[in-house]
Amino acid sequence: MLLPWPWKMIWKVKVPHKVACFTWLVARQAVLTQDNLMKRGRQLCSRCFFCEREIETTKHLFIHCRVTEKLWQVFFNLRGINWSMPRHTSEALTCWNREGNMSGHKERWKIVPVCIWWTIWRERNQRCFENKSIPIQSLKLNCL
Ligand SMILES: [Zn+2]
Repeated sequence: MLLPWPWKMIWKVKVPHKVACFTWLVARQAVLTQDNLMKRGRQLCSRCFFCEREIETTKHLFIHCRVTEKLWQVFFNLRGINWSMPRHTSEALTCWNREGNMSGHKERWKIVPVCIWWTIWRERNQRCFENKSIPIQSLKLNCL
């Protein structure tokens, strides 16, 4: 089943414009992850900067990486929900919006995927370009 494009989850959430643009890139799977750079002709030996096991793709980095899953799990635990991760980033936004419509804090709930993705992307870039990393507990706190 084709889910509707989650434009409200991208452009109608209360986050800075540059973060909304970044969310759009993630949802379109156009953010400059290693697989997208390779599609543009860059020669890379792709690996995820977090788990160091998988090729860095948008889906892996923002949904399926075991480190990213831990950030998602923080919010699942806070709300006591059991959620199976969608295959695509745009599906994650659509499904998250549906889940949020049943909650009392819709506006805060809507920015959760954006917070997770922005936190992961900033940390990924620290690891990639500055060879610095912080522990998962600090990542969770940054996200919260
Ligand atoms: Zn990974």
